[in-house]
Amino acid sequence: MAGSRPPRLLLLGLDGATLDLLLPWAKAGELPNLAALIERGACGTLRSTIPPITPCAWTTMMTGANPGRHGIYDFVLPKAGSYGRRMASARDRQMHPVWLLANDAGLTAAVLNVPTTYPPDSLNGYMLAGEMGAPSFNPSATTPTALYEDLKAAVGGFPMQTITRTTRGYDLAALDAQVANRQAAFTWVLDNRPADLFIAVVNYTDHLEHFFLQDRALDSDGRHVEDMVLYGYQAADRLLGSLLERCDASTNVLVVSDHGAGPLRTYVNIDRLLVEAGLLAFRGGSGVQRGGFLRRVAQATPDWIRDALPKQWRRGALEKVRQEYEGEIDWRRTRVFRRGTGFGLELNVQGRLPEGTIAAADYEQAREEIIATLRAAWAAVPELGGLEVYRREELYSGPMSDLAPDIILAPDEFAVEPTAAPSPEAGVAVTLEEMHHYGAAKRFKIGSHRLNGVLLAAGPDIKTGATPEGAALADVTPTILHLLGIKAPEGLDGRVLTEILA
Ligand SMILES: [Zn+2]
Repeated sequence: MAGSRPPRLLLLGLDGATLDLLLPWAKAGELPNLAALIERGACGTLRSTIPPITPCAWTTMMTGANPGRHGIYDFVLPKAGSYGRRMASARDRQMHPVWLLANDAGLTAAVLNVPTTYPPDSLNGYMLAGEMGAPSFNPSATTPTALYEDLKAAVGGFPMQTITRTTRGYDLAALDAQVANRQAAFTWVLDNRPADLFIAVVNYTDHLEHFFLQDRALDSDGRHVEDMVLYGYQAADRLLGSLLERCDASTNVLVVSDHGAGPLRTYVNIDRLLVEAGLLAFRGGSGVQRGGFLRRVAQATPDWIRDALPKQWRRGALEKVRQEYEGEIDWRRTRVFRRGTGFGLELNVQGRLPEGTIAAADYEQAREEIIATLRAAWAAVPELGGLEVYRREELYSGPMSDLAPDIILAPDEFAVEPTAAPSPEAGVAVTLEEMHHYGAAKRFKIGSHRLNGVLLAAGPDIKTGATPEGAALADVTPTILHLLGIKAPEGLDGRVLTEILA
């Protein structure tokens, strides 16, 4: 567009994109813009955080720091001194993201839809908080507030409703609308609100992998799509093409993902595992969770009613179910419990928690015993496959380490995912077929995350044909700063990926 000025660096984030899918499709001619970018630039993997979940992964990428420094480990954080939890937000992020570091050096930034960036920063530039974490598209989701009005007027806003597969089907028209909206919003900002650093993320790549990775064809409203995951990658490829049209030879371009994706093989009913191992107990005779009234109501609620509820209501209802769950646990007979996704487990330590069962002085010994017990209980269920167990200090370091779970599970390279008991009868391993059986009216995922994220780069300062070596998410921020001619601050965990530089 006349009068607009291309960014010096453009980063497009494709949540959950993996080279396992992207490269074969690029070679087969399905993704022409991504293929051309690979042809003229660098291509490789970016190691994700452990666990490879969206909030901590994007925050690590955008701060150059591990969760022990930036403080975001999961979708939720513990409420201090209690068994409760609250949603993690950008207020919990303890490190400056790359766009504020660019501001400090006198550069402007436009930052659109990066997960866990609500509330948006006050910055020299433009920011739209990420749909992952923002309550809805409203004036509080943008900086400045005028960007809300502008996007509403120009592209009809930025609806933050996740489109998911349900047993009733999948709304292909709604996906198409979201794809078109993201493209319109991002290109409008590029055309009308120029900035030195442009960052934009789409989530539909990840959603489609979760819901279609092992069952990809879709018939909807008289249309047939052979491969919904490819459909999402092709949408992302067109988006990249329209962003590149607005760049010139001076722009360095990065395409990144926060983690990879692969088939979800089976679920682990983590509470059942802990109960059977004698580490967690529910009130009542059997010690197994029976599920309270609210949980039964939630399970009986049809998907179409859930989908019709505003995001804040659904979130509120989830928290009520969670509080009921906390009330069902017999804390005096519990040594370890889950608070977030279930990859992280916390010890019930005296002083830290109101009904602690482990004396602080016994922490190390208790944790080793619990790990040994967990490993044995896991190995007794062969369907679960392999298990890596980490102590928190093996993964995280920094002043926010106290917020980390004590034990972190990496089950079968994340092809196995924890689930809350789908039914009182469910065993420790819950296959996808059993999930169908237990939750006939429920949505559930058939794809899960992997550790291999993506890094593609091209531009005047990128070496053609280069491969990043052992690159990790935290390396992205120092590399962006270097490409912008800014010296990275002290104390970041990442490094400049010099091997991809021209
Ligand atoms: Zn993600």
